[in-house]
Amino acid sequence: MKNTKELRTWLDDMNLPHPLVIAGPCSAETEEQVLKIAHELKDSDVNYYRAGIWKPRTRPGNFEGVGALGLGWLKKVKEETGMKTCTEVANAAHCKLALENDVDLLWIGARSTVSPFIMQEIADALEGTDKIVLVKNPVNPDLALWLGGIERLYTAGIKNLGAIHRGFSTYDKSKYRNNPNWQLAIEFQNKFPDLPLICDPSHITGNREMIQDVSQVALDLNFDGLMIETHHTPDKAWSDAAQQVTPTKLKSIMEELKIKKETE
Ligand code: PEP
Ligand code: MN
Repeated sequence: MKNTKELRTWLDDMNLPHPLVIAGPCSAETEEQVLKIAHELKDSDVNYYRAGIWKPRTRPGNFEGVGALGLGWLKKVKEETGMKTCTEVANAAHCKLALENDVDLLWIGARSTVSPFIMQEIADALEGTDKIVLVKNPVNPDLALWLGGIERLYTAGIKNLGAIHRGFSTYDKSKYRNNPNWQLAIEFQNKFPDLPLICDPSHITGNREMIQDVSQVALDLNFDGLMIETHHTPDKAWSDAAQQVTPTKLKSIMEELKIKKETE
């Protein structure tokens, strides 16, 4: 990946605002839930509506997503609200279905970025796509794995690429669910200054009370956008309940953020 300048072009070409905002529930639960949250978000700063339909859970026995059924719900979100949509893909079959169903942006989760074979399978399945593909950092603090995954996609002709910083797991006692290790994010930015970088304060904090502050740090560090899990009844969410905010709270977070002007 030498001429990284072109990696930035999708952000400019699509005329996307700064910061780019991706919001929506951790998991798509029911059609009603997906559409309710989407309607509550449609008149806010949200550019892409997220909802996980294939949910890789660390331990078995938890809700693992509604699967392909959710693709139809995301289509309805687009038809009814005009918002673009995104979901996580974790294997070739997911990629094929997401492309066939015109999901606008795909992201690769932290539990997939750790596996070179899975990353290669995904790269092959998405070969040449002009959809936006964002790669979350691996669960462990290993920049080479993160970069390696992105390089595999780039080599497969995927140019609308970006990265998502979702924090790194740690055994140390921490106030974060996943430690932000901001110095690693800065090192990553220095290596690929033209690769759009989005912060996921939801998975970093694991706690909705901390989302505002972590989002502000990310914008102060010149991140290009935020992915914030949003649910109409967060405490009743089927996954990641403690970290989700309501659509109303998301609006207030966005209003309170101090956003740097391009010229600063
Ligand atoms: C998610 O975005 O809901 C998710 C599972 O995130 P991560 O891969 O960062 O754990
Ligand atoms: Mn989640």
